[in-house]
Amino acid sequence: MSYKSCKFIQGGIAFKHDVISFCNKLCGTKRYENFNIPYEGDFYNKYIEIREKAIENCKKGILPHEGCRYCPYVEDKDWDEDTRFREFEITHWIHCNCSCCYCSLLSQTKGKITRFKTKSPYLQLFPIIKRMLKEGRIHPEAFFSIVGGELTVLKEFPDIMKLLLKQKNANYAFCLHTNAIKYEKLLSEAVARNSRTCVSVSVDAGSRDLFKRMKKIDAYNDVIKNLKRYIQDAKKSGNDNRIVVKYIIVPNVNDNKEEIDKWIKTCKDIGVKTLQPAIEFCSHIITPGTFKEKQGILYEYMKEQIVVNGFDMITYDFLEDIVKNKSFDLTIKSNN
Ligand code: SF4
Ligand code: SF4
Repeated sequence: MSYKSCKFIQGGIAFKHDVISFCNKLCGTKRYENFNIPYEGDFYNKYIEIREKAIENCKKGILPHEGCRYCPYVEDKDWDEDTRFREFEITHWIHCNCSCCYCSLLSQTKGKITRFKTKSPYLQLFPIIKRMLKEGRIHPEAFFSIVGGELTVLKEFPDIMKLLLKQKNANYAFCLHTNAIKYEKLLSEAVARNSRTCVSVSVDAGSRDLFKRMKKIDAYNDVIKNLKRYIQDAKKSGNDNRIVVKYIIVPNVNDNKEEIDKWIKTCKDIGVKTLQPAIEFCSHIITPGTFKEKQGILYEYMKEQIVVNGFDMITYDFLEDIVKNKSFDLTIKSNN
């Protein structure tokens, strides 16, 4: 049966820091109370019920919420009846060993580095993943986007990863977002096992001084050292193009060509194969602002330099729209 829906409604689950929801996409970041279930009582079963209803509504032509109407992820096609979870977004804790000036969690962290306390008030995800596996709710081709806080300081991360990596008859892929201040061998193991998996590191600077200003920690040299290690590890499986390095342009902080050039040179020197240009958009979700023309110009410059220097490039579709429309208002663009 053909109808309008998206892969997240059909098979998604997003563990945010305070609620569980279909997706963690830009268009879905506004609060749509019915689809953001707080971690109270049997929230997991409640979520499953709500998602089933949402799929039934999509079949009748009703998308879950207003944000979905403008979302580029909506497709009109024959959807698989198999509604096991295939799209995981894991961003359920705020702990991090740095404090980026563009972090979407700034309203919670107030710019402080947040360390785990013995009794963390945040959701323990390991038992939920275990339960989902036991109930056969995870699709063997599932994709896990693990975002943050910082996964290498999440206490239950090794348990979650080991559990997922040891599943037989499963071909799970991961997008592992890390700041690379700490090396974690499980990331290399995941990259070695699946060519769809990637490790994504936002360096955002070409020098130690700027890095320190952006992230409130003097850890540039550690990041470069750990990146080299991830690349060396990934070379063994031929998946070294899956170590992706990003530069997020933040107005008045790192928006200059010299720094971008230095970033590109360093990436070349240490053997990075894939780069991702980006502009700061997280804080625009919290406090909508105006698009700065300079960001767009530098974004295009970065793309040119990435190509000229022979790297592979990954871009976010919605950033292309933002730059093209010179606005953070995604409702300007509608594919649907
Ligand atoms: S259509 Fe977009 S906003 Fe709506 S659930 Fe899907 S990804 Fe999220
Ligand atoms: S590494 Fe990620 S979680 Fe940590 S401060 Fe930066 S953006 Fe936020």
